[in-house]
Amino acid sequence: MKLNDFPREIQPYLIPKLEGRLVYRCLGCAREYDIDQLLYTCPHCGQVLLIHDLQFDRLKKVPGELWRRIFDYRRMLKVPSLKGIYLYHEFIGPMIPLEAAVYLGEGHTPIIEANSFLQQEAGIRFYFKNDGQNPSASFKDRGMASALSYINFLIHQGYVSDVLAICASTGDTSASAALYASYLKPHIQSAVLLPHKKVTPQQLSQPLGSGALVFEIPGVFDDCMKVVETLAEQYNVALLNSKNAWRILGQESFSYEIAQDFEYDMENKAVVLPIGNAGNISAVISGFLKFYETGIIHTLPKILGVQSEHANPVFRYYLEPDPKKRKFIPVTVRSSVAQAAMIGNPVSMPRVIHLVDRYNKAAGGRKVFFVDVKEQEIMNWGLLANRNGHIACTHGGECLAGLITARNQGIIEKKDIAILDSTAHALKFSGFQEMYFENRFPPEFEIVPVPELINSPVFLHPKGLEKVPAPGKPLKGDDFREFVKRISKEIAEVLDLKKVRKP
Ligand SMILES: *Cc1c(COP(=O)(O)O)cnc(C)c1O
Ligand SMILES: [Zn+2]
Repeated sequence: MKLNDFPREIQPYLIPKLEGRLVYRCLGCAREYDIDQLLYTCPHCGQVLLIHDLQFDRLKKVPGELWRRIFDYRRMLKVPSLKGIYLYHEFIGPMIPLEAAVYLGEGHTPIIEANSFLQQEAGIRFYFKNDGQNPSASFKDRGMASALSYINFLIHQGYVSDVLAICASTGDTSASAALYASYLKPHIQSAVLLPHKKVTPQQLSQPLGSGALVFEIPGVFDDCMKVVETLAEQYNVALLNSKNAWRILGQESFSYEIAQDFEYDMENKAVVLPIGNAGNISAVISGFLKFYETGIIHTLPKILGVQSEHANPVFRYYLEPDPKKRKFIPVTVRSSVAQAAMIGNPVSMPRVIHLVDRYNKAAGGRKVFFVDVKEQEIMNWGLLANRNGHIACTHGGECLAGLITARNQGIIEKKDIAILDSTAHALKFSGFQEMYFENRFPPEFEIVPVPELINSPVFLHPKGLEKVPAPGKPLKGDDFREFVKRISKEIAEVLDLKKVRKP
């Protein structure tokens, strides 16, 4: 639809204006810093930052009802830069000019309702939001679109040039960073640090394919993160981990989309997320808060953060009911199939603490909850979901396992409708499915396959059939007819097929 065809009262709002005044705000000392520089931690006290719009109140002057129509109509526009996260430009990066916005097809991922069998098994109504359908096959693209658009803006402004973008990764951050950086060639080069043998082959192939410099480091993610932080402190590099507050801003789009897809009715909704470095849950909480404060939604949904028992520092922190007695203690991680969330010392913990407190206060009671789940449950629920039409990664399975746990604990009620973040595509983690089907998980995973969930190919080579085709060596004539006949017969036997009656 062309601009002139939209309702007259919507037209002035369809293409967002450049406005707002963004600053980095420190979560430790509350000092504020201008965004004309790349900053990851507070130069004064070293704490992490969040980006804050000093003119946020201007957004409250537009009635919530009007915002809802603006976003719904904007979805019909054919402007590429407004098709991804910047559909919500006013909330995500109001001073980023649309010419600088990088759009590679991220965001607006489908929300798929579980079929009745799976809902019955789970004992609750729920949906998966398939963030694995983003361009690099994980939700990280939302934050990367924001971070790289911002860097692109700095390049346009002449503030920076020849940027070396760098990140540590459990696999998906590097896939996403490398993809977006490669789009901005030659202005940006990317280098990624991965824990050796702790990312899947698919995840390793992604930054390699995008042409990034890939370093494999001994240890786990937390070790890589330390190295990257040291590099960012001492050298002139752009850090693309979620320590970078621009990532958080972009990932807020996940909340906005859920609100929009449910007609902005968040009553009795629960959003379920896996937690690793805790950037995503911070973003999702922040996103819902902003829509709530501007009257776009009237209810804050429940938020459920899920961790594996093998990497559960956030869950442990909130086990203590008295906020004054809570103390954050990093954990030593153990092997987990939710490998992208295998983090013992989440960088965004201060953000979580700050935002959870604000969220619960705004809601007038507890609305953010945490559970942990067993590796076995993650695999079983994930596999079951995928046997029922989903493409959930292991972290999607973790969400479903967490939903069941929360339902049993009464955190999630029968009347709630849950939206689960399948944070990546199932194919990225197919190696774990293979280990399950072949029953070869090393003992530290504590996973024993359930026979009914195992699936494996059936190799057919009928006894006594000597001639079979091979690549470049096709069979002909009677040999070929015999081959087709014998194989067909064997398949029919295995499947117990009934013969069609010929008239
Ligand atoms: C990064 C990632 C997570 C964890 O998200 P955080 O923001 O680090 O908490 C979960 N699942 C997948 C697939 C990821 O790539
Ligand atoms: Zn500070």
